[in-house]
Amino acid sequence: MKCLLCNNHETKEIYTYRLPQHYQENRKFFPNIKIQTCQECKISYCSNTERSNLDNYYKSIYEDKPKIKNRFKEFNSRFFSQILFYINHVRIHENIKVLEVGPNILGILPTLKIFQKKVSYYYYDQVVIKHNHKEIFKLGDYFDPLKSELPKVDLIWMSHCLEHIFPSDLKDMLNAYYKDLNKGGKIFVEIPNDMMSKNFKIPHTLFFEKEGVIKLFEKFNFKIIAFSEINHSSDKTEQNTKSEVNFTKDKSFLVKFYLLIQKFLPDYLVKKFAFKNFVLNGPYTNKVFIRFIAEKIDK
Ligand SMILES: [Zn+2]
Repeated sequence: MKCLLCNNHETKEIYTYRLPQHYQENRKFFPNIKIQTCQECKISYCSNTERSNLDNYYKSIYEDKPKIKNRFKEFNSRFFSQILFYINHVRIHENIKVLEVGPNILGILPTLKIFQKKVSYYYYDQVVIKHNHKEIFKLGDYFDPLKSELPKVDLIWMSHCLEHIFPSDLKDMLNAYYKDLNKGGKIFVEIPNDMMSKNFKIPHTLFFEKEGVIKLFEKFNFKIIAFSEINHSSDKTEQNTKSEVNFTKDKSFLVKFYLLIQKFLPDYLVKKFAFKNFVLNGPYTNKVFIRFIAEKIDK
């Protein structure tokens, strides 16, 4: 088939989706999905799913999500390390307008507020965010690039979101973002480097090579002002991968335990634990991922 991004080159089926962990459920929403690769665009994507399958899948996973309130959520290590990266390159000015797509129940706002309290925050998600902040606006459950009205914003935050976009929406989405960003506006993106880890799994629908994602943003009139490949290493041995799994397992037990007991503990104890176990000044995981900031170029 012709590539839906460049409308020019023939795509090839090089990669296949990994067998999902929750096999029954995933098969229900994603029967026989395939990955097409455009070697010119250096982007691979799921070529045969429906938007409604994705929506229903997310609905089903949100349904059984426990609602736990985390204290000191601004120090969530994923967001904390992202903001440190961001402020290394860009100043966050007063009254900044930020749009986040797919923040889930937490998002970047609490961490952003450590560095800038005057923020207008807009988001799209199926869930409702309940942070204690005046200027917080839910714009809708989904962002539809052809129908949704966006406010003019200075920053668009996409943390582990771009790899979930419905592939045929990608071009319209970047055009809409370009239009709705103020002059000099920025997009922050973090995505897992699935191409490097060969981790093709549901519900990821887009898989980028480094050149591919840079080329894509440049094509839509953005310049990349910062780019970082995290945990990028060619010698990911079996040994390393194994210890990584154990690390994650131990940590998730600790995290669960912490979330359970934290509400009964005094602040000083919670703070100490949060700093020791959650705040990492840098990568928060051993997995490979890509992080970058793109700036709108005036046409
Ligand atoms: Zn292409």
